Amino acid sequence: MQNRTMIQLPDKVSYIINTIMEAGYEAYAVGGCIRDSILGRTPDDWDITTSASPHQVKALFPRTIDTGIQHGTVTVMLDREGFEVTTYRIDGAYEDGRHPKEVTFTPELKEDLKRRDFTINAMAYNEKAGLVDIFEGVADLQKKVIRCVGDPRERFTEDALRMMRAVRFSAQLGYGIEDQTAKAIGELASNLALISAERIQTELIKLVTSPHPEALRTAYETGITKVILPEFDRCMETEQNNPHHCYCVGEHILRSMEEIRPDKTLRLAMLFHDIGKPRTLTEDEKGIYHFHGHPAVSEEMTRTILRRLKFDNETLDYVTKLVRYHDYDVIPKPANVRRAVLKTGELIFPLLLEVKEADLKAQSMYMRREKEEKLTAVGRVYQEILSQKQCVSLKTLAVTGTDLIKEAGMQPGREIGSMLQKLLDLVVEDPSLNERAILLKKAREIQ
Ligand code: ATP
Ligand code: MG
Repeated sequence: MQNRTMIQLPDKVSYIINTIMEAGYEAYAVGGCIRDSILGRTPDDWDITTSASPHQVKALFPRTIDTGIQHGTVTVMLDREGFEVTTYRIDGAYEDGRHPKEVTFTPELKEDLKRRDFTINAMAYNEKAGLVDIFEGVADLQKKVIRCVGDPRERFTEDALRMMRAVRFSAQLGYGIEDQTAKAIGELASNLALISAERIQTELIKLVTSPHPEALRTAYETGITKVILPEFDRCMETEQNNPHHCYCVGEHILRSMEEIRPDKTLRLAMLFHDIGKPRTLTEDEKGIYHFHGHPAVSEEMTRTILRRLKFDNETLDYVTKLVRYHDYDVIPKPANVRRAVLKTGELIFPLLLEVKEADLKAQSMYMRREKEEKLTAVGRVYQEILSQKQCVSLKTLAVTGTDLIKEAGMQPGREIGSMLQKLLDLVVEDPSLNERAILLKKAREIQ
């Protein structure tokens, strides 16, 4: 059965494997690429594992890069494409659940497959031997489960990040986590505190941009978010008692992530848009809960969390802006929409409309029609503004700072910036004013 599974290796992968084999060593495509091929998905990259030492691999190919030679990895370059070729290895004891203290090379493929995290990631293939599936990865693909290779407690103790990887793969593939594997996560999740923010960030992005971002609930239930995102645990514990809502804050967040397309910025914006609600909760005399000022609190918390997880500044900028404005009331009239675009930013505004729609869809049915109609109307007005190329930023204002200096007799300096802003405000109120002569005249008048 095993050997009959056929995988179509790309020509270059097949060439590398055959070159190594002709030199008398073993070589296989391994890991994620085999899993994805069996699932009929196109792999992102093809990793190769071999019995040849890094030195021996280097001798076989004219162009190689020492990517991680101490861990046995050499990148073989063919044309402009790189392929990682890694020598069979056994990972030694892990230091503080983080990185292997030392790696030992081994002549046995089986040993190399044994060090891998999950059965579905521990299969190898080449054209001669066919599929090597010692840990029943195919069966687990059929059962749709994520299961550790070997004893889950040992594997998670060696590298705590694997617990997040388990949830991430379950979210990407829509699989369950096998009982013993899930139980071990519940017991060992606190070890994630030892893992670097960068590695956690990578897994969190893959989780939230997957087809099942709501798998974050599993991360909550197993105690993972308690360590990496305790702010989310507070949300799962906060009811909303308000006619606009039918879920607790955390469930509303999960639903809102499902309602938006799988883009990193958008999914993170939904994850954080209400993160400040638990801190702003008040109860009125009728027992209804309110969360006044929560967008500002959510924005501050989002900044703190994204910094803690070492996100880049661009992501931080976009996500915090979307969080800040997610509840901003836009009236569906041209001047109001133009003002909203100016205030939030030209790049942010279309994303904000998506955020608002997802937020809405994750609320109760109370006033749903009215809310939807209003948002649709805002979208229509915005499209009209775009199609008429109306000015909503300095980029398309009919005068520049230089114009003001040369034509309106202004002195270079800070006044230029504030004058441009004033002119932009005028144009946003009335697009017909966006003409050079008119604006220069206005500038002279205002001065
Ligand atoms: P992706 O589609 O996200 O790239 P992948 O399975 O290819 O998924 P990688 O992080 O690229 O994941 O790793 C490649 C392979 O290396 C995995 O399939 C797995 O066999 C092994 N691996 C990666 N990280 C670990 C880990 N932390 N512990 C054990 N094995 C790992
Ligand atoms: Mg990969």
